[in-house]
Amino acid sequence: MANKIEKQKGGLLALSIVSIVLGVLSLVGGILLIVFGAKSVSGEVAKGVVMLVFGILLVLLGLFLVPLGLYMLFIGASVKATKGSLKEDNIAINGTVNMKKCKKCGHEVSENDLFCPKCGASLLDKKVCPKCGATNMSENIKCSSCGADLN
Ligand SMILES: [Zn+2]
Ligand SMILES: [Zn+2]
Repeated sequence: MANKIEKQKGGLLALSIVSIVLGVLSLVGGILLIVFGAKSVSGEVAKGVVMLVFGILLVLLGLFLVPLGLYMLFIGASVKATKGSLKEDNIAINGTVNMKKCKKCGHEVSENDLFCPKCGASLLDKKVCPKCGATNMSENIKCSSCGADLN
């Protein structure tokens, strides 16, 4: 499982770099075509117009590819930064595989398991408020009952 996430992440990063490189090349090539096209419009109109059209198309392609690559790079990097976090791992694999891991021993457990079959740790994503004892969702920062800090 970890290997699969690593592979997906590597693929994502490689894809994002390819997108950025292609995007930048398209932008540069497009701008050059527009500049040269604009120059030759006065002399050879047909050639200049073709160069301008291709230049604009290339710039548009670049404007699409660069943000796409940056976006993928961002997702890939955020997975790396929070390696081992279930939420980020699930984003990386687009939720296609929804495996949960025991927070204590790392054993893969099914979504419906209440206790880890390997080490017996509780898998409930709950936080108990230290002030009032109310049960909160694990993502809560403040107690929903009394407002106390949960971290
Ligand atoms: Zn466990
Ligand atoms: Zn509380």
